[in-house]
Amino acid sequence: MKATCWMGRKKVEVRDVPDPKILNKQDAIVKISSTAICGSDLHLYNGFVPFMERGDVLGHEFMGEVVEVGRGVKNVKVGDRVVVPFPIACGVCEACKNELYSVCENTNPNKWIGEQLFGHATAGIFGYSHLTGGFAGGQAEYARVPFADVGPVKIENGFTDEQVLFLSDIFPTGYMGAEMCNIKPGDTIAVWGAGPVGQFAMASAFLLGAERVIAIDRFPYRLKMAQDQGAEIINYEQVGSVIDALNDMTGGRGPDACIDAVGMEAHAPGVKYLYDKAKQATRIEMDRPIALREAIMACKPGGTVSVIGVYGGFIDKFPAGAMMNKSIRIMTGQCHVQRYTQKLLGLISDGKIDPSFVITHRMRLDDAAHGYEMFMNKEDNCEKIVLKA
Ligand SMILES: [Zn+2]
Ligand SMILES: [Zn+2]
Repeated sequence: MKATCWMGRKKVEVRDVPDPKILNKQDAIVKISSTAICGSDLHLYNGFVPFMERGDVLGHEFMGEVVEVGRGVKNVKVGDRVVVPFPIACGVCEACKNELYSVCENTNPNKWIGEQLFGHATAGIFGYSHLTGGFAGGQAEYARVPFADVGPVKIENGFTDEQVLFLSDIFPTGYMGAEMCNIKPGDTIAVWGAGPVGQFAMASAFLLGAERVIAIDRFPYRLKMAQDQGAEIINYEQVGSVIDALNDMTGGRGPDACIDAVGMEAHAPGVKYLYDKAKQATRIEMDRPIALREAIMACKPGGTVSVIGVYGGFIDKFPAGAMMNKSIRIMTGQCHVQRYTQKLLGLISDGKIDPSFVITHRMRLDDAAHGYEMFMNKEDNCEKIVLKA
């Protein structure tokens, strides 16, 4: 089959690789109809997540048709159309029983790496390095889906791929980011990053009752998309200080909650950025936490900072004083996708949201390398690329 392979820093290639096979009785094989490139794939592309190996198959946002199941699979059968959540979860461990699927205790065969880096291992994730199990991803024609009874969401009501594909990651991730803000009527929610996850965080904040949403980014087309869904905007390249701008917009109080939908490769004008970029390049720090620092500094005392942008390791100049003295509640996590899929499918069914609004580009799987480059460089106002297998 054809698959999008990581071949080194800033190098992906669509190559012929062996077809996946059933390895365990709880596996299913899915013939992929649509898959997407995610902002977090860019962290792999740019070489910021160690533990990638040449030839690794990328992709954790995918859907398609079940073409084979192991003898232990009960909830899906050959011919079913499914969306596959990015965390692989066993459904029976202590974490899964508490709906903390992205930290499932049973699905990461490379636990030692997570134990070294994070103290404990996290769940397996499709196409996301050997730190999360080294599972082949779904930017391919086929994928092996372990624990097929726990993840895949059956799609039965004639939705298009584009309406439901993002149940695999970015819609639940954005929704969890907003849910962690514990939104009350009248709240103002600031969102750093108006990429696809940021857009879903904003949409979800409105769905959960936020009165105002403020989007912070530097790309006019992304800010326009945020504005189109009702958000106010700050172009951080055009204001002296994001924190001052947010204070001006909230009567000096600061947003009730701040969502970091940026993560480890943040950008900023001026010297702060060069400082972090140099430290990250020399591995003195692993992440550039510019958005996270700003979110903590901007948040109102007693408010919540919700972190859904991906971080990989250690950071520098963390504003612990602001966090502690202002009584900031920090909420975070890789999304526990399986917790949200039925609820969010319901919102799509009810016409409350059509997740396809973020898609700006459609390509063939063969063009994935071009897609990565285009998304990376934000060419042609690229917000979200869907690849058709
Ligand atoms: Zn993703
Ligand atoms: Zn589990």
